[in-house]
Amino acid sequence: MTFAQIPYIRPDFGALIEKLSGFTAGFVNAKTCDEAERIVYEVDAMLRVYRDASSLATIRYTQDTRDEFYSAEQEFFAENGPALEEKHTDFQKAMLASPFRDELEGKIGKVAFINAEIAAKTISPQVLELLAKEEMLALEYQKVMSTELVDFRGESLPVSKMGLHTASADRATRREATEAVGIAKMKNAAEYDRIFDEMVKLRTEIACKLGFDNFIQLGYLRMTRNCYGPDEVETFRRQVKKELVPLITSLKNAQAKRLGLDELSFYDDSVLRPQGNPKPIIVEDELYQAGIRMYRDMNPDTAAMVDHMDSLGAFDLSSRNGKMTGGYCDYIFGQKTPFIFANFNGTAGDVEVFTHEGGHAFQCYMNRDYKLMHEMHPTYEACEVHSMSMEFLCWPYLDRFYGDEAEAAKVIHLIGALYFIPYGCLVDEYQHSVYANPNMTPDERNRTWAKLEKEYFPNMEYDGLPFFGDGRRWQRQLHIFTNPFYYIDYCLAQTCALQIAALIQSSGWDAAWNQYMAYTLLGGKMTFTEMLEEAGFKSPFKDGALTDIITVAKKYIDEHSSEI
Ligand code: ZN
Repeated sequence: MTFAQIPYIRPDFGALIEKLSGFTAGFVNAKTCDEAERIVYEVDAMLRVYRDASSLATIRYTQDTRDEFYSAEQEFFAENGPALEEKHTDFQKAMLASPFRDELEGKIGKVAFINAEIAAKTISPQVLELLAKEEMLALEYQKVMSTELVDFRGESLPVSKMGLHTASADRATRREATEAVGIAKMKNAAEYDRIFDEMVKLRTEIACKLGFDNFIQLGYLRMTRNCYGPDEVETFRRQVKKELVPLITSLKNAQAKRLGLDELSFYDDSVLRPQGNPKPIIVEDELYQAGIRMYRDMNPDTAAMVDHMDSLGAFDLSSRNGKMTGGYCDYIFGQKTPFIFANFNGTAGDVEVFTHEGGHAFQCYMNRDYKLMHEMHPTYEACEVHSMSMEFLCWPYLDRFYGDEAEAAKVIHLIGALYFIPYGCLVDEYQHSVYANPNMTPDERNRTWAKLEKEYFPNMEYDGLPFFGDGRRWQRQLHIFTNPFYYIDYCLAQTCALQIAALIQSSGWDAAWNQYMAYTLLGGKMTFTEMLEEAGFKSPFKDGALTDIITVAKKYIDEHSSEI
């Protein structure tokens, strides 16, 4: 069976809820720990089938957002999902109250209980309708995004196809392209304002109904933050402002000098050198084949993963009208297979599909035989360590994608990895401000973004660009709408991935791979900070966590800047 042939079976929510209630009753009445444990496994198996159906419906919707059937299925899940989730937390509450809890913890692990405690706080019968509404708003946002077309030089292009032009070596072209994207987005700006305004108020109402002061605490719980809170994150952001922002400013000055400019504008930001960033020398199927071969040659485990995915056709990589923008990796438990989605556009982003999403796929594949879902799926920031570290572990193979430009691609990747951290922190701090002040008007929100942006990017200039120059850049950040507070995860993970990059420099690829594998094999059996400690990473929350990686990265950039 190929991936496209995996049958989608619409879940029967009524039957699932009844079954789950039966399991909860059975669990409460269990006479022995073995009996209780058996029910935990049965519930997990049932929910795995449900998650697969939900994932398949979403995957197929993103493959063609115009498909009426899967589009309707999105609404079906949005409306019915919260009630099932609520029943699941009933089961989790029963787990927490179980007389066999200690014994059970020894068998299925403490993370199951830590996460159950968190989940129990995020939902109640009083908020089910509001949750369904929230999901519908997220779908609305995605619909507006995915149908957006950019008028550019006589063509009407999806935003995902604009990357090549907005990063063009020709400054006039990239300005024109970025402006065209801004004009297209500006047409929907009022919609984005309205959707987000409704979301913020709705999320705040849900949080208050659940007993929180505002959405921030709830947002953290929804992200299953089981080992840190807003204070630790703030400490991290402070370190970024103090230690990393000055380095980024000097790297940007060097970039401006290379480009022959007095100062960089927003549309110059991603172009690191006058001739444009290295582009892959291969495209589409050839690039796909090179990606597969890279993992075949890297290691027997990565080879097994791509052989499995390749034989199933578990990739959808080319860009098409109607296809959702962006890229992701998902996982189908039934077939034990990751699935990778992307929109190839001829830029370095195409290579990242393999180096980044390939890391997610590898984690899923390596943990495929673990017995419970939480063991197979660590928390989000932990998962981004798999993907962002893999980006660096792929360095020895970059010549296959970039030819003679591989060395330049490495330096530019490293600079980009550093550039990303303040941006991610900006997205995070913005959301903290928004949810701490839920009554801000849309205009005030845009001004808040613009103000915070100055703290992270003191020299950012927009040169009169529509949309981007109006403090609206955040509106194209999907996560802000669909997964609040997700973004800091990338920043925390990047500081860990940079440790892998540093280890490759100091001790060689094999040593870095060994640490990566030790980390990957932990699955989701520990909390994030425990995983880091166990595998030998420095926690991003510790004072000075950024100092070492900044020193090593800066040294590499200084020594290799001639290769750009
Ligand atoms: Zn990722």
